[in-house]
Amino acid sequence: MQKGSISVQTENIFPIIKKFLYSDHEIFLRELVSNAVDATSKLKALARRGEVSGEIGETKIEIILDKDAKTLTIRDRGIGMTEEEVLKYLNQVAFSSAEEFLEKYKDDASIIGHFGLGFYSAFMVADKVEVKTHSYKEGAKGVTWMCEGDPEYQLEENDKSERGTDVILHINEENNEFLEDHRIQQLLDKYCKFLPIPIQFGTNTETITEGEGEDAEEKEITVDNIINNPEPAWKKQPSELSDEDYKAFYNELYPFSSPPLFWIHLNIDYPFNLTGILYFPKLGNNLEVQKNKIQLYSNQVYVTDNVSDIVPEFLTLLHGVIDSPDIPLNVSRSYLQSDSNVKKITGYITKKVADKLNDLFKKDRENFESKWDDLGVFIKYGNISDEKFYDRAQSFTLVKNVDNKCFTVDEYKESVKENQTDKYDKIVMLYTNDPDGHDMFITAAKDHGYDVLVFDNVIDNHFLQHLEYKLGDITFVRVDSDTIDNLVQKDEKKESVLNEEQETQVVSVFEALDMLAGGNVTAKAMSPEAQPVTITRPEFMRRMKEMQSLQGMQLGDMPDSYNVVINTNHPLIANKLMDEKDAEKQKDLAEYMYKLALLNQNMLKGSALTSFINKSLNFLK
Ligand code: ADP
Repeated sequence: MQKGSISVQTENIFPIIKKFLYSDHEIFLRELVSNAVDATSKLKALARRGEVSGEIGETKIEIILDKDAKTLTIRDRGIGMTEEEVLKYLNQVAFSSAEEFLEKYKDDASIIGHFGLGFYSAFMVADKVEVKTHSYKEGAKGVTWMCEGDPEYQLEENDKSERGTDVILHINEENNEFLEDHRIQQLLDKYCKFLPIPIQFGTNTETITEGEGEDAEEKEITVDNIINNPEPAWKKQPSELSDEDYKAFYNELYPFSSPPLFWIHLNIDYPFNLTGILYFPKLGNNLEVQKNKIQLYSNQVYVTDNVSDIVPEFLTLLHGVIDSPDIPLNVSRSYLQSDSNVKKITGYITKKVADKLNDLFKKDRENFESKWDDLGVFIKYGNISDEKFYDRAQSFTLVKNVDNKCFTVDEYKESVKENQTDKYDKIVMLYTNDPDGHDMFITAAKDHGYDVLVFDNVIDNHFLQHLEYKLGDITFVRVDSDTIDNLVQKDEKKESVLNEEQETQVVSVFEALDMLAGGNVTAKAMSPEAQPVTITRPEFMRRMKEMQSLQGMQLGDMPDSYNVVINTNHPLIANKLMDEKDAEKQKDLAEYMYKLALLNQNMLKGSALTSFINKSLNFLK
């Protein structure tokens, strides 16, 4: 037996490993299983080149729990190590500049595996680690390496005859959770689900039927519990996969979720290597929950589900898998953002997504439109947040009107240009965020030959603003933001039936009412068919207020403000109100019309609503 001291620059690296990596100690299993996979893949590659003598036999990896002995073993039938290699790989290489590295990146345990420190993560959970290995090389002898978490190690020959490596962890007291089947199963599910070599953890019993007809007999058999799918869909060629395969894989990634709308298969090997499948989920209105579902893999090893530095913000709404050995994982986040490879990857994914959407739109517009409610959120988000995407998305970004008809923005401009261009030469796009609530306004707009769009998602406020800013020649105006004659501002002026003095009189009747705070009364000569009293909310003020509340600002709330516009040409104003000589009755009439206008804007609430209803009932009596 040989004894020695592991060459380390510092006294003892083990306390550092335990201290700094403690928060994420479960990754030890990923590291050790990855090593087993590497060793197995290497063996298979050598065998393909005819460099291994004889049959290589079964090459599955086994994870074995022994609760009595308190050990967890990772067993592979890979290339194994000779004595020389054990000394080289386990003692020396692993430690070169390890301390410096740990000092620098102590907050990010996820990168440990990419720095040749993977194997030593075993000491986060084990007091003693044994490696029993036998190299595939002809004439090699089995060796056992053992280390108890200090710089001393032992090395001796063993009689292990099978090719491959057993890494035996003697799990320590604080980490006995890793002696529980369900915990190990959970970790394997998380990190090893798509590793390329079959991984067995225990066995399952299955019931099978033997024989046929009357002789049929049910039998229990024992089968290996293989925890992974070594050939995940993203590694295959798109031509090998049916829609059902894609959906089945989605289900494998996110059990019990509703099926995706569609997907994009990514496959590129130059100038960087990247594969993956991105799915478009059904998006609800709660965008936050949908985020962080994309899983990042490096050669089928799970790395993280936080891809916010790798894909553009709006794409984090997608689900699926990205696999790239080229994404530098061993660097800090700020470096990642400025890394040119990462920038290229981001650009590539954005382009792919835009191309796919464009394709879908071109090939089957009807289908695309039917999915707009889900897709729209995502595409609008992309429009706002990503310049490049905005440029590409113009051909398939849609707007939808109150009659459920979809248009591209260009198409829409063309269709309303003639009727809805105002005196400043801007195309006025009318919209509602509440088709039912704005029914009266919408009807009036339609009677004027105007079209009305629906924008009712949380993201629409920003989206409208963005389009106005980008296009320059359009302006969005909510249907209730002004009186119908003024929604699309023209220079025409209507003659008023009332003279100036009478107008002032009308205004003062309304101003004397017990009014909701923020009201501002004006008189206006409109068509006699328009409403006698209209409550409008000026677009600009309303947007400011909405922005403020969206951003959760608390800097002294902006006051409510609305206009009470009296149509001096309406018979109820011009005749009935003006002719009423009894001041009390005149006030009642004004109040009634004012409250109807409030009701139409869903602003009549509380005791004002109660008294209005009671008054109406009295009137019916
Ligand atoms: P890395 O895997 O990043 O190179 P590790 O510290 O995990 O770093 O492992 C160091 C080296 O030890 C590996 O590169 C490999 O040569 C060898 N090794 C580790 N585990 C095994 C194994 N199961 N079979 C064969 N060789 C192994």
